Amino acid sequence: MKKRRIGIDLGGTKISFIDLYSPAEVLCEKHIDTPHEKEAILKSIIEHVREMLAESDEEEPAGIGIAVAGQINPIKQSVVFSPNLPFKTEFPIGKMLEQAVQIPVRIGNDANAAAIGEKVFGAAVEMEDFIVLTLGTGIGSGVFTNGEPLLGHRRAACEAGHMVIDPAGPPCGCGRAGCLEAFASGSAIERNAEKVFGKPMSAKEVCDAAKADDEKAVSILKEAGERLGEGIASLINIFNPEAVFFTGSLANAPHHHYFEPAIETARKASFGTMGDGVRFEISELKENIGLLGAAALV
Ligand SMILES: [Zn+2]
Repeated sequence: MKKRRIGIDLGGTKISFIDLYSPAEVLCEKHIDTPHEKEAILKSIIEHVREMLAESDEEEPAGIGIAVAGQINPIKQSVVFSPNLPFKTEFPIGKMLEQAVQIPVRIGNDANAAAIGEKVFGAAVEMEDFIVLTLGTGIGSGVFTNGEPLLGHRRAACEAGHMVIDPAGPPCGCGRAGCLEAFASGSAIERNAEKVFGKPMSAKEVCDAAKADDEKAVSILKEAGERLGEGIASLINIFNPEAVFFTGSLANAPHHHYFEPAIETARKASFGTMGDGVRFEISELKENIGLLGAAALV
């Protein structure tokens, strides 16, 4: 059923807005820098939503979805905690937006929202069991089982980036060591590149060097890819998915050097024949998946 929805992707550096019926029928899209205080974030979101509503004479939106990089409480429509946003104590941003604009608001974690976006707007429309891995500075994951998003008791499930691959591994931002994220994310690639090349490099620069066949860059990506595959094998063993989708900035990494080692390792390392036939795909929603995922929360 066709319905108008507003999606808001609230990230550490920018806030994106989309007003749409479907990815093919977008009424409006805008991007702004994220303000530094939570009250200013709320105020700015309210202003931009009011503007979007005033600019269009279409039917009223069915709802507004907010995807946030952090732990959220969908019942209280609040952000509980976010490492990259000024929410260090619980803040009911969704509830306050709903009261201000008088349109229902749904709030979700960005990685879970990405999985819902893949289900509503992407290649997983017909799938019941799949995983979406968001590969960027960190690693996020969203899981669908039996046709429903897996959220958990406190709606915080599926932190696959903090699944420990090797307790003797490098330190992770979460305080533990050897998490999947500490081995296979963009920041892990950057840390290894600085060691190998002796200068700071962005993950994109490492990917570009690997595309130009730089051997050191190729081996950094291959190692990260293999570790990613170890993590995916464990996810396959637990969730038995039909498909695994990749999104985030690293979705543009050279397939041959990062994703192929990951897929090969995942198939080999998964239990028995569970890895056979699992589809591995780069999400076609690309960098828009966060924003479309937010809209899909509605
Ligand atoms: Zn961790």
